[in-house]
Formats: sequence, structure tokens, C-alpha cells
Amino acid sequence: MDLRNIGASGNARLLADTPTDLLIDGAWMPAEGGATFPVSDPATGEELARVADASPADGRRALDAAVAAQPAFAATAPRDRYDVLMGAYQLLMERIDDLALLMTLEMGKPLAESRGEITYAAEFFRHFASEALRIDGGYQQAPAGNARFLIAKQPVGPCLLITPWNFPMAMGTRKIGPAIAAGCTSVVKPAHQTPLSMLALGEILLEAGLPAGVVNIVTCTSAGQVMEPLIRSGRARKLSFTGSTAVGKVLLEQCADQVLRTSMELGGNAPFIVFDDADLDEAVAGAMAAKMRNMGEACTAANRIYVQRTVAEDFSRRLADAMSALRVGPGAEDGVQVGPLIDAAGRDKVIDLVADAKDRGARVLTGGSAPEGAGFFYPPTVLVDVPGDARMAREEIFGPVASIIPFDTEDEVVAAANDTAYGLVSYVFTGGLRRALRVAEALESGMVGLNQGVVSNPAAPFGGIKESGLGREGGAIGIEEFLEVKYIGISV
Ligand code: NAP
Repeated sequence: MDLRNIGASGNARLLADTPTDLLIDGAWMPAEGGATFPVSDPATGEELARVADASPADGRRALDAAVAAQPAFAATAPRDRYDVLMGAYQLLMERIDDLALLMTLEMGKPLAESRGEITYAAEFFRHFASEALRIDGGYQQAPAGNARFLIAKQPVGPCLLITPWNFPMAMGTRKIGPAIAAGCTSVVKPAHQTPLSMLALGEILLEAGLPAGVVNIVTCTSAGQVMEPLIRSGRARKLSFTGSTAVGKVLLEQCADQVLRTSMELGGNAPFIVFDDADLDEAVAGAMAAKMRNMGEACTAANRIYVQRTVAEDFSRRLADAMSALRVGPGAEDGVQVGPLIDAAGRDKVIDLVADAKDRGARVLTGGSAPEGAGFFYPPTVLVDVPGDARMAREEIFGPVASIIPFDTEDEVVAAANDTAYGLVSYVFTGGLRRALRVAEALESGMVGLNQGVVSNPAAPFGGIKESGLGREGGAIGIEEFLEVKYIGISV
């Protein structure tokens, strides 16, 4: 069924079918005292639903369930875990239309992008289903010959999984997939702006046959008060967090006391470098993908677009043409390519960063001011001659604003690209093989897109260095984050 034009009554039906309670020990239950909070549509500001607002006691109950379920789940056969993940993969794909609309309503991105995210999210389940079957070990002779080493891998134990609003489903499956594959139970806390997609995922996991207590979902408005006692309880063995670097640092400190295993997928400040030997059509298409995916609200978004001076004007004009041709509007409307930003704070930040860059001498080629009216819209914007000391060269823009900075030499641009505390992803566009490899190796980031504007792939190791994070998600390495290595020494 095509849900794009089902209108308000269809939306109401979809919303009425989506769970709004907490998922604890395999059952949906209200929060303590029946507390709820509103979830609203960023395209209109209107309330979509009210979901359970968990208290610290609710959080404790969720962790109780995860801890109780852990031993039996660790003992399940890898093929049983494979079956659950593949069942959930299939349900996600069967329900992609409903799930995409739900995501667009709560998060704002255009329907085509929501569909893309549901597919991406489902692929993590398909990928990690197979990984469950491949958990390996070893058997080795001691160098002196008098002993043997048996090397086994075991689930880490109950996990706390905290996810952001910008990819409401995929940031969840990227953690839940490997946790289930490894045999770990979890308490999942989605962002307060976008809990509905995660709650819909919880129902799918139950339908796919996930045992009670293995995944528990806690929605709340007081993340710190609910999660800190769980982190400090000593009963969880791992925290996997995706979100801002500022919150990640607070959580790392909390984890230190219990020496919790951590995975941290944090903020980015991606450089996007265009050399004068690049195919400019490809570079513009790459910049559009790297900048405009998710309205620019992505940790991987091109935040600083460095263009070699000889082609800077040509590139900027072409990019401005492509950006100004995009249709802005509510993500559920036909043909819309750019939806609203997530909330007033998100849009205000973009407005401030653009004003700051203009004050410092940047020129606006297209866009540059927010429209009046309901919804948190901001137009696709291209700024040129952005000085290196502009705030948007240092901070995540998290909006549809391309910030173009000219450069002259390779050494200069590599130094500028690396002059940031972040190190998630970099993009390089060049026609020269040697330069491509030289620059890709010199860039301080966990990932590099070489002549491509999107790096995310469930089968590849996603993650950053420096203040962009610790650990990797996806790829063959993704499941290792949820496994402990145990060595058993055997005398012979
Ligand atoms: P955020 O403010 O850091 O929030 C992320 C999550 O942490 C939310 O669920 C939030 O809950 C929760 N949280 C906030 N304070 C907490 C605390 N004291 N204790 C426990 N949990 C807490 O980030 P966001 O604005 O949602 O997401 C955008 C950020 O995520 C950007 O910086 C982006 O770069 C980053 N990101 C990184 C990746 C990656 O893979 N590296 C991917 C996507 C996004 P509430 O919603 O209730 O506040």
C-alpha cells in the first residue's frame, strides 16, 4: 500500500497501532504513575502521540528483566538468534511503508529517506544474523609445547544502548543486531524526540520470537536520571552510545567507576575535499549526498567543503544550482526532498551559525534565511569564502548548509582538515590515484569516502577516532564489541 497520500485519518490509524508503553520483560506496560510525554511532528509542531515517560524505578525494572534473561539467552543456539534476526529483518521489509511514514512523522525526513533508513536498519539484522553463526575461537599450542590455549568468546552480558533522534531506527538496529547475535540482553533508550520508531521495532522483535526480557525499551524525558543509576549499578556490563560528544564524555566518566565496556559513536566535523583534478559532476553529486542526506542532520555530514581555488567558483555555482532546485516541505508530501529540522533548538543553531559566518565575511549563494510559519524548516543554503575561524568550521552544523572554503595546496588542505577535535569521516574527490591514497592515509578520521559521498554500509566498520568515538559498529568487527575473549590454559 502507498501510504503517502493516506492523509490525517491514515496517520491516526498508523499512530494508534504503534505501541506507546515501555517494553519490559516481553510486555508493554505504562510508566510509573502513568506518566507520559508528547511526541510531535517537526513539520507542523503538532502532537502525534504521547508515550510513557519512564521513571528511575521503571529503568531499574527494565534492567532487572535484562539481567534475569541474560543467562538463558547466552545459552541459546546461534541458529536460534539467527532466526530471530532474520525474522525481524523480514518483518521490517514487509512493513517498510508504514514504518517509513511513522519515521517521517516523528523525525521529519522525506519518505524516500525514511524508506532508505528502514532498509539500512533491516540490513544490520540480516548482517548480524550471519555473524551470530560465525563467532569464532581458537586452539593453540603454547610456545614451550607443555600447554594448550583454548580461546573462547562469550557474550559481554547485559547492555545499555542509548540512541539519537537523527536515525531513529538504524542507530538502534546497529546496536541491537550485534547484541542479539552475540547473546547479550539489553535496555534500549531512544531519543525523546523519536521514540515511536524504536517502539515499533520492539513489537517486531517480539513478533519475530525474541524471548521476553532480551530487549527492553525505556522511553523518557529525563535521560540522565533514568540511565545514570543503571550505568552505576554494576549490573550492566556494557554501554553503547550514539549521540553528541558532550554527552558521550559525561557517560564515559560514569562508566569509569564500574570499568564498563563502552562503544561511543559521537559527533563529527567532516571535511569534504575537492581537488582540481576531480570530476566536478561527481564531486557535486557527492557533496549533495554528503551534505543533504537527512537534511544535513547526520554525524557524517560534510561540514567543511574545501575546494581547490582554481575550481572553487565553478564547483560553488554548480552546487548552489543543485541545492536551490531541491523541494522543501513536510517529508510526507509527494516530491519533497528536504524536510524540517528536528526542533526549534536545532533550527536556531543553524540560524546562529549562518549569521556568524556572514558576520565574518562569508557570502550567501543560495538560501540563508529561515521561512516564517509553522514547522522547523530551513532552506538548502550555500555559503562561500567561509573563514577558518567561523563557528561552522568548528562545530557540527546539523542542517542543510554547505560551507565552502577555498584552498591552494594539498599540504594546506590536509592540515586544515585535520585541525579539529573530531575524526569520524572525511571525503576526498580527485582523479589521481597516488594523491587519493596519500591524502586518504593522511586524514585523521575513522572512515574516508574516496570519490563517494556516503560511507555507511552495514557490512563495513563504521566509527571514528579522536573525539568522534571509540569502537566500531557494523562489519565483521561489530559483533566483537559485544563479546569477551576468554582464554583457558590447559596443561598436557
Ligand atoms: P544527544 O543529545 O547526545 O542525545 C543522544 C541520546 O543520549 C538521546 O537518547 C538522549 O536522550 C541521551 N542522553 C542525553 N543526555 C543523557 C545523559 N545525561 N545520560 C544518558 N543519556 C543521555 O544527541 P542527539 O542530539 O540526540 O544526536 C545528535 C548527535 O549524535 C550529533 O552530535 C551526531 O553527530 C551524533 N551522532 C553520531 C553518530 C555516529 O555514528 N558517530 C550517529 C548519529 C548521530 P534525550 O533524547 O532524552 O535527551
